Amino acid sequence: MTRRLRILREYVRAEAPALRAGGEPDGEPPRAPLLDRLATLQIPRKYARAPLVLDGEEYFVLSAVERVVFHEEAAAYGDAAALLSAPGSLTAGMLVATLGDDEQQSAFFGRLHERPTWTFLAMTEPGGGSDATRLHTTLEPSGSSFLLNGEKRYVGNAHRARTGVVTARTRPGPLGIRCVLVDAQAPGFSAVPIATLGMRGALGAMRFEDLAVPEEALLGRHLPATRRGMWGWLHAFNPLRCVAAALGVGIARAAHAHVAACLAGQDVTRRRRLAELGARIEGVRSLTMGAARAVDADPANAHLPAAAKAAAAVLAVEATTTALRLLGPGARLEHPLLDKWARDAHGIEHMEGTSHIQRMTVAQALARGDLSPA
Ligand SMILES: Cc1cc2nc3c(=O)[nH]c(=O)nc-3n(C[C@H](O)[C@H](O)[C@H](O)COP(=O)(O)OP(=O)(O)OC[C@H]3O[C@@H](n4cnc5c(N)ncnc54)[C@H](O)[C@@H]3O)c2cc1C
Repeated sequence: MTRRLRILREYVRAEAPALRAGGEPDGEPPRAPLLDRLATLQIPRKYARAPLVLDGEEYFVLSAVERVVFHEEAAAYGDAAALLSAPGSLTAGMLVATLGDDEQQSAFFGRLHERPTWTFLAMTEPGGGSDATRLHTTLEPSGSSFLLNGEKRYVGNAHRARTGVVTARTRPGPLGIRCVLVDAQAPGFSAVPIATLGMRGALGAMRFEDLAVPEEALLGRHLPATRRGMWGWLHAFNPLRCVAAALGVGIARAAHAHVAACLAGQDVTRRRRLAELGARIEGVRSLTMGAARAVDADPANAHLPAAAKAAAAVLAVEATTTALRLLGPGARLEHPLLDKWARDAHGIEHMEGTSHIQRMTVAQALARGDLSPA
C-alpha cells in the first residue's frame, strides 16, 4: 500500500468509530463528520470544490482503489449500514459522471456542495432486480417533455433523497432503456422507507405517477444511442462492485476484531479458528484491492469486481456467523453490534447484483479466455 493510501486509511480509521456511537438506527442514520465529509467527495475533479487534504495530499476519493480503502476502513471501524444511509453522490454520481453532459453534471454535483444531500439510483423493481433490462417503469413523450410512471424497490435512500437517477423504458429493446435525473420534490413522486432485518434505515420504495420529466433531465443526450443506457450502468457498476466488496470485507474485519478482543487468552482451538478466518479475510481483501486496481486500469474490467463482490458476500456472512459461534450461546443478545453486523452481512449479497449474477460474469470471462482458470 502506498504512503498516500496509508494516510487516507489512517484518517478514516480515526474518524469511523463515531458511526457506531448511536447504536442501531430505527429510522434516521447517524450524523458524523466522516459522513458529512464523504458527502462532498466522490465528485469528478471538474465539479469538486473541496478535496480532502491530509498531510499535504489532496483526495477526491474517485479512483476505485481510494473508494475501496475508504469504505472498507469505515465499515471495519465504523458501520457499513451508516455508509449506505449517508448523503453524497456514490451510486447516482457514478451514473451522472458516466452519462451526464456538462450542464447536468454541474447541476447535480453543484447541489451536493450546498448542504449534505442524499441521492438515489433507482433500478430494482417489485418484479425483480437481477435482470436490469426487464424493467416496467416507462418514460413516454408528452408534449415537449416526458411522463415517468412505475415503481422501484430496495433503493438506497429512496425516502430521504432530494434527487437521483431512475432507469426507465422509452420503447422496447435494449436501446429503449434510459437513465433520467429525477427531483424528489416534483409532483407525482412518492417514497416510503422499507423495514429490513439488516442494513436498517437504508432502503426505501418509490412510485412515479405521471411525473413530468423535462428533456434536459435525460442522461446521455450528447452520446450515441448505443452509449446512453445500459452501457453507462455496466461501466458504473464495475467500481461500485468493488465498493460493495469492500463493505463486505469491512464487516468481516469488524466481526473478527470484535471476537479477537473477547477471546484474548482463551483456548487454542477457538484462537486457531479465528486465525483461519483472519487468513480468509486477508485473501478476499487482497482480491478486492486487485479488482479495484484492475478497474482503475481498465474501467471495462467486469470479471474481477464480480469475483471480489461474490467472495466478499460469502465472507461477510461466514465471518459474522463464525464470530457468533465462537462467542457461544447468547452471543446475539450479549453482543448487539455483532448481531447487527450478522444481519447487515446478508445485505452485501444483494447489493449491485447477487452472487449468481457475479458468477455468470466470471464464467463469461472464462469462456472468452479473458482469465485463466488457475
Ligand atoms: C443493501 C441493499 C442495497 C440496495 N441498493 C439498491 C439501490 O440503491 N438501487 C437499486 O435499484 N437496488 C438496490 N438494491 C436491490 C438489489 O439491487 C436487488 O436486490 C438485486 O438486484 C436482486 O434483485 P431482487 O432482490 O429483485 O431479486 P431477483 O432479481 O428477483 O432474484 C431472485 C433470485 O433469483 C436469482 N436469479 C435471478 N436471475 C438469475 C439468473 N439469470 N441466473 C441465476 N440466478 C438468477 C438471484 O440470484 C436471486 O437469488 C439493494 C439491495 C440491498 C440488499
